[in-house]
Amino acid sequence: MQIRGQYKIVNFAKLKQSVYCNYNLIILPQIEYMKFPVKLSVICFIAIGVTGRLQSQQQLKSKIVLVIHGGAGIIEKERMTPQKEAAYTAALTDALKAGYNILSKGGRSLDAVEAAVRVLEDCPLFNAGKGAVFTHEGKNELDASIMNGKTLSAGAVAGVTIVKNPVSAARAVMEKSNHVMLSGAGADKFAASAGLEIVDPSYFFTEERWQLLQQVKKEDSLSKSGGHSYNDTRPANIYPDSKFGTVGAVALDAEGNLAAATSTGGMTNKMFGRIGDSPVIGAGTYASNATCAISCTGWGEFYIRLVMAKSVSDMMEYGKWDLKNAADEMIMKRLPALGGDGGMIAVDRNGNFTMPFNTAGMYRGFIKADGKPVIGMYKDIKE
Ligand code: ASP
Repeated sequence: MQIRGQYKIVNFAKLKQSVYCNYNLIILPQIEYMKFPVKLSVICFIAIGVTGRLQSQQQLKSKIVLVIHGGAGIIEKERMTPQKEAAYTAALTDALKAGYNILSKGGRSLDAVEAAVRVLEDCPLFNAGKGAVFTHEGKNELDASIMNGKTLSAGAVAGVTIVKNPVSAARAVMEKSNHVMLSGAGADKFAASAGLEIVDPSYFFTEERWQLLQQVKKEDSLSKSGGHSYNDTRPANIYPDSKFGTVGAVALDAEGNLAAATSTGGMTNKMFGRIGDSPVIGAGTYASNATCAISCTGWGEFYIRLVMAKSVSDMMEYGKWDLKNAADEMIMKRLPALGGDGGMIAVDRNGNFTMPFNTAGMYRGFIKADGKPVIGMYKDIKE
């Protein structure tokens, strides 16, 4: 094992063994010829170095954090049944645990965010993967993206129709192609060639989302916002689940690396070919070890116009804002000022995180080094 400039999670026994080997092979013969005071200083120096590294590893390990969301919108206690609340809580908890299993063993934030998002994509409660909303034409066109904060590498797919887990297709674009974003039939074809699980488009069908499309079609022709506002209370009274459910995850791992991922079916009744913010790097997703990792949910057109996620990162990097203030400024002020709504989850390189939203609620949760999942839906969760 070699220790370079950066801390690696190592097994203590292995580290001891390696120090012992280096000591025996390289350092010991030289120490033998040193005078006692010099010898003592060298040994102390080595001991302090090893202890320091172990402490730093422990500190970083204690800062691991995974934050997830399952969409923002009109999520209010009065509209929720105990059964539904329990189902959302269980799904969000499963997603947190999937990511935590990776992070707690010293795994990568990139793997953790992908694992968490895959769980939510497989759950029909959320508007991503199975359970995705329908386009105006009655199809499911899915978008997803992922970003590695350590390398600034990123991948995205837009409008895929046969990939079971679009977030993994985004990751494949990042790791197995020279591109950042693939769309439509090409993205589907690429995912298949990358060995990802392919399903019939009917896999994504859920009766509930289908009925929502029929209702939204009727409502949207009457609504002033074209049915797109997440705070549009009139349609939400009738079909409260129609406007949210995008999923996302952000994480900091024990090596101090950040990552973010987002996956969505987009917006109910969207035009064919419409691409929202979720697969757009810098809008719906962004991660940089210099600043933070972000995943957004909300009315995508506004997030694209505000370059939402990258703006928060830039405010931190160039304007010296802290994470919470930067995220609040964008979500609570700039977004509504333009007429948009939604929320975001964000974590910085020190493990601070925030989950602002300007809608009634946002499905969300976090898990830290202690392994206790915390879930929130309404405006009542402590960060
Ligand atoms: N942002 C997503 C989109 O516009 C939708 C959502 O987050 O609910 O496609």
